[in-house]
Amino acid sequence: MKRALVTGGQSGIGAACIERFKAEGIETISLDLHKDADLAVDVSDSAAVSKAIAAAGPIDILVNCAGVVGPTTPLWEIEAADWDKTFAVNVRGTFNTCHAVIPGMIERKWGRIVNISSVAGKEGNPNLSAYSASKAAVLGLTKSLGKELAQKGVVVNAITPGVIATPMNKDTSEQLLEYMISRIPMGRTGTAVEVAALIYWLSSDQCTFSTGSVFDISGGRTTY
Ligand code: NAD
Repeated sequence: MKRALVTGGQSGIGAACIERFKAEGIETISLDLHKDADLAVDVSDSAAVSKAIAAAGPIDILVNCAGVVGPTTPLWEIEAADWDKTFAVNVRGTFNTCHAVIPGMIERKWGRIVNISSVAGKEGNPNLSAYSASKAAVLGLTKSLGKELAQKGVVVNAITPGVIATPMNKDTSEQLLEYMISRIPMGRTGTAVEVAALIYWLSSDQCTFSTGSVFDISGGRTTY
């Protein structure tokens, strides 16, 4: 039985992913700030992540879902600490978990890593510069890492969801949400279940000739 670690697994896309993995017979471990997570850890804390993952045992599939929106103001009004915090969770968090699981994947010659970026990382959303830049960084990380692992049986891909109806959007202003939906050709938000279906495929034995790639799931918004 394959074992999957899903960060941000207590909510939204991560929770839907865990549900899908369980339905497919995959053992799942959630890593989340939430106290009910299997590993209740801050993903940005390198030492805590490395310790928790070492104790959890072998991981075959890693899904990096933990993420924060960060500041929602024009760049010149962002506090440096808030900029750093966004990068600590969205980028350093992804680095931390990859760093901890990859040696075992290489040893076992099999691994699947799925990093959750965003359409914001391709296009940049106004008043979301920290988030957009951090999600672009996740794409760069994925492209480099995919090449580093290309001959080791470990494939690494990223996905770029558009607006997905999850708790993450609950604090997004109605104006910003309307702007984002207005840019989706399908004219609706996506669901976490739809995103989990793509993550499942990218985590499976069916995904064998794609690595360092970016898969879009945005209702037609960012078709590149
Ligand atoms: P969500 O807010 O529903 O879930 C995020 C989860 O991450 C929460 O359970 C939260 O506790 C956890 N988390 C946050 N900071 C953490 C930390 N420091 N350490 C450990 N866990 C932490 O959000 P979601 O919509 O499910 O988003 C999942 C991923 O998808 C995020 O990376 C997000 O940026 C990305 N994404 C979401 C959307 C969307 O519209 N919802 C669109 C594009 C990309």
